[in-house]
Amino acid sequence: MTDHSRQPRARTRVYDLERDGLTAPEARADLERVAEEFRIRVTPEMRGAIAEPADPVAAQFVPSAKELTTRPEELEDPIGDDAHSPVPGLTHRYPDRVILHITKTCDVYCRFCFRRETVGETGPLPEDQLTAALDYIAATPAIREVILTGGDPLTLSTRRLASVLERLSTIPHLDQIRLHTRVPVVAPERITDTLCHILRAAPTAWIVLHTNHAQELTPTARTAIARLVDHGIPMLSQTVLLRGINDSADALETLLRALTKLRVKPYYLHHCDLARGTSHFRTTITEGRTLMAELRRRCSGTMLPNYVLDIPGGHGKVPITADHFTQGDSPGHWRVTDRNGRTHDYRDPATR
Ligand SMILES: *Cc1c(COP(=O)(O)O)cnc(C)c1O
Ligand code: SF4
Repeated sequence: MTDHSRQPRARTRVYDLERDGLTAPEARADLERVAEEFRIRVTPEMRGAIAEPADPVAAQFVPSAKELTTRPEELEDPIGDDAHSPVPGLTHRYPDRVILHITKTCDVYCRFCFRRETVGETGPLPEDQLTAALDYIAATPAIREVILTGGDPLTLSTRRLASVLERLSTIPHLDQIRLHTRVPVVAPERITDTLCHILRAAPTAWIVLHTNHAQELTPTARTAIARLVDHGIPMLSQTVLLRGINDSADALETLLRALTKLRVKPYYLHHCDLARGTSHFRTTITEGRTLMAELRRRCSGTMLPNYVLDIPGGHGKVPITADHFTQGDSPGHWRVTDRNGRTHDYRDPATR
């Protein structure tokens, strides 16, 4: 039987982007260097959603020479996944939930990805590691929720995904499964009725859709989202705050209204993590808070996400609110209190 999830998906070549007028010939040498460091892939759906070079869709997927700039604070493992890994493929930071990195493949490679050092390395988690991860979950009754991420779990073949969900459904203490994915937007043709049925059969499966700009929500993507919700699958969204892409109240408001209308509840607005070569995307904390204050003036609570920082070093996510953030001793220096009451330093990019 052919398992398409085992077949490597083609990378997008710099040459193709240049031919399509999305990158300049002068940039070619630099972009080839970027391509050696970080994978490049754009789906036909997202290629079609790009209206012009450097627009909010293009800037997320088309590489830039700015990625060759590494700032000292940028980390290989920006959110500290590795520090909380009891067995390969699993991150267990909070008692009641684990992340299962079921594959490292994505249909697109986002230029700001917080896991850009590892995505695309290999395909699905090897069978022996998957078994060890499932054994750990089965042996740990405190775990109530499994978060499938990667990579992108919806790049797995339907058959493989069904098998993983079936194995999870035999673990009695699990209430909920969450799938963090970009697929309904970047490759909406994958959201078939069969896939929806498989998701519906699992212990309550939620989808958390990663989407950053309303321009990504093509008519086909909207249909795919509607199909999931029509099959009774609850949906949340997560968005990364990105300089030059969605760092305006208008862009965020348009996105949040579109999502709510599509029956997707905005969940997280992530401050951009300290991944290598991403500083050009990072706003300051104050810029993010100002945007959130404006959104609170404009939007109902049904559409407001939580603005959060994943504290560098593996200290977990915290809401970017006065409870957790106090001014440090210089502008752009923050003292951040984690969920366990410990404080950490955070510095905005422009002030280091
Ligand atoms: C974000 C995250 C989760 C999920 O946490 P929620 O805040 O409940 O969405 C779980 N585990 C890890 C390691 C995380 O980083
Ligand atoms: S889809 Fe997610 S994991 Fe994959 S490259 Fe984009 S941000 Fe990273």
